[in-house]
Amino acid sequence: MTCGTQYAPATEPPAHCAICEDERQYVGWDGQQWTTLDELRGSHRADIREEEPALTGLGCEPSFAIGQRALLVETPGGNVLWDCITLLDDELVATVAARGGLAAIAISHPHYYSSLVEWSRAFDAPVYLHAADRQWLQRPDPAIVFWEGDAHSLEPGVTLLRLGGHFAGGTVLHWAAGQEGRGVLLSGDIVQVVSDRRWVSFMYSYPNLIPLPAASVSGMVDALEPYPFARIYGAWYGRVVDEGKAAVRRSAERYVASLTHVPPRASSV
Ligand SMILES: [Zn+2]
Repeated sequence: MTCGTQYAPATEPPAHCAICEDERQYVGWDGQQWTTLDELRGSHRADIREEEPALTGLGCEPSFAIGQRALLVETPGGNVLWDCITLLDDELVATVAARGGLAAIAISHPHYYSSLVEWSRAFDAPVYLHAADRQWLQRPDPAIVFWEGDAHSLEPGVTLLRLGGHFAGGTVLHWAAGQEGRGVLLSGDIVQVVSDRRWVSFMYSYPNLIPLPAASVSGMVDALEPYPFARIYGAWYGRVVDEGKAAVRRSAERYVASLTHVPPRASSV
């Protein structure tokens, strides 16, 4: 219930959750707790919001686990579900079906693998995960495609970019047609939209506040350089940054300077 990762059907709960026990996450303060998708359907409902034309947010309320919402990108070549959530109910299925179903699912990193197998089966869609994070998959399935390298084109104008950072296979999605053709970046929390929405940040662990090395952050910016984007959609509703490209550049500069800056000594009296 803390990370929202679904495990394969079993009569007993798993002894451990590898995602929670990793140093990037944590076991809930009252100890590990488990639920089922059926229980979740009784306690939570879909929270669906239009983000911009051809981009729909798919979340749930009240917030569950990490609380991210997924994004449905509609393209002429077929729809792509970006990231995933644990809940899958009739309203979510009907919403996606009404927009033409799914040609593919792609997920930024293991914290959002959630109920990927359920979503894949509901829409008969392959799931694209970066091969560098293969070890974190808790429920294997034949529909999963492990892609390798630094970029993978899902459809014309829909490109997965492996930036690394938070996870070795940390991936973002570049959608060229978004923002009326000025480009959009769907960033999960690989490029994290922060509270001051002129900025983004980059961390190895968000809950435990473990930063990334300067070289890793610089490498992420370099990998994004060829791709124009006017807006970044982060992992939660409302986490949106305009002037996306400039925000990434200045945020990385600030981050690297903060890692290396030695603050002046307080002047003595
Ligand atoms: Zn994460």
